[in-house]
Amino acid sequence: MNLEAAIKHFSPKSLMISDSSRATASAALTGTDVMAALGMAQARAELGFALFFAKHMKDRQSRDKAVKLLAQIAMKIAPVTIGKVAGRRMAQAMLVLCGQAVEVYCRTADDPHARCPQCKGRRKVAAIALANGGGVVCDYALMGFAEEQFSEPDERECPRCHGTGLKASPSSRAYRAVNALLPELPQRTWSLNWKPLYEELISRCEAEESQADAQFMRITRGDTMAA
Ligand SMILES: [Zn+2]
Repeated sequence: MNLEAAIKHFSPKSLMISDSSRATASAALTGTDVMAALGMAQARAELGFALFFAKHMKDRQSRDKAVKLLAQIAMKIAPVTIGKVAGRRMAQAMLVLCGQAVEVYCRTADDPHARCPQCKGRRKVAAIALANGGGVVCDYALMGFAEEQFSEPDERECPRCHGTGLKASPSSRAYRAVNALLPELPQRTWSLNWKPLYEELISRCEAEESQADAQFMRITRGDTMAA
């Protein structure tokens, strides 16, 4: 069982297994098992879990926790040049930078403002629309075809968002946030030293969430549950 499937078994408020999900739940796992597995995996992959809840449950507390934990990592991996510029404001600067990284990471296509303008968050576009020059999602009726002629249209990964369903998020936003704290930070220095760290932190978020998911799957498979 992966994390996303586990969360679907719980109603968000009571954290109780809902009746409808019991039938589809893995036969060997009871609600108590899932709760225990969540707790165990959470202890082993704290940041990944916080990111998961921040992203998929839009949980504010988890988001704040993720930012703090990521900032601890950022302090360790930040190049010396960044420390020199930030000086005594280093910890605060890393919190701002990580806040931006976590915010970008937590965007989902559920949010209309974050959706890719080409595929509208669908992650795919009809191949025929691409052949016609792209830019618009294929409208069969407009093209004079009956929709049923294309009951299963050939769909391709959206070329604009590369299948994420999300609008591009320019790093200039993160620069402005850091710049508000460090007004003397020139754009050139940002691009050279800070932007790579910012991008690395976003990738780190992905890696940490996958790790949390892998931990949870390993535990619910029973490899370590009994140990
Ligand atoms: Zn797209």
